[in-house]
Amino acid sequence: MTNQTIQWPEGKRFAFTIFDDPDSQTLDASREVYAFLKDCGLRTTKAVWPIRGNGQPSDHGATCEDPGVAQWLKGLQKDGFEIAYHNATSHTSNREETIRGLERFADLFGEYPRAMANHYYCEEGVYWGNDRLTGLNRAFYNVLTRGRNRNRFAGHIPDHPYFWGDLCQQRIKYVRNFVFADINTLKSCPYMPYHDPRRPFVNYWYAASEGANIATFNECVREPAQDRLEEEQGACIMYTHFGHGYYENGRLNPRFRSLIERLSAKNGWFVPVTTLLDFLALKKAERAITNQQRTKLERRWLLHKIFFGTA
Ligand SMILES: [Zn+2]
Repeated sequence: MTNQTIQWPEGKRFAFTIFDDPDSQTLDASREVYAFLKDCGLRTTKAVWPIRGNGQPSDHGATCEDPGVAQWLKGLQKDGFEIAYHNATSHTSNREETIRGLERFADLFGEYPRAMANHYYCEEGVYWGNDRLTGLNRAFYNVLTRGRNRNRFAGHIPDHPYFWGDLCQQRIKYVRNFVFADINTLKSCPYMPYHDPRRPFVNYWYAASEGANIATFNECVREPAQDRLEEEQGACIMYTHFGHGYYENGRLNPRFRSLIERLSAKNGWFVPVTTLLDFLALKKAERAITNQQRTKLERRWLLHKIFFGTA
């Protein structure tokens, strides 16, 4: 499959969406960013932490237990945005706490999450750290990260207290993996959404484009890149944290505003991540990636990692 063959629904020329992790995001920042996206006609995906947890938070971003947050999120969902999962809370959860988080999510939003992304500080991450990679690529990653993510994550290891891979498989369809610099995510990862037979607890993986904070986001969606995404009739899933610099001193970043206004004036398909991935999945004859495709993807990501930091 190449992206040239994709006919987007409703005669749209390309697809664009955002998967926003809750890190450092206050309710005030959420309100501003999402009111703006809604006005622009975008319907994207907002990941949440359904519970506060009993431990020391890794981050000051709001959870669904903070005052007003759950109610606001329900409104967002009603407006057509997707609510997704970023682990139970911002710190590591054992299996019991993960179950509590997933059930709380279902209570609040009417169903289990369809999409998720692992949070870096949750050691119940599934196939995270060096387990994102295979063979020599894994060895190279461990050198690059000085071994700090070697066997650090355990969500996919049966019998471990943090294990929840079986629940991930039963309840969640899409998990984010590699992030690339190019705006056209589908060009960097033409296989998505894909199953990796070596990582069976994840039904499908998807990739994203680099926009972890306001600076990298604005760089990735700059004007010439937008125009190229449209020309290539590609698909973009931006990876970001709207808590990282988008809303400061009572105002939304003006460059972000103008870039999104420009993009939203184009004939794009601006739907949530799961809607986009479901559409792509229907077009695919083959669900699983081959060893060769995996190696290629992992290498491409390692190259990106060298330029964009080694978290
Ligand atoms: Zn996170």
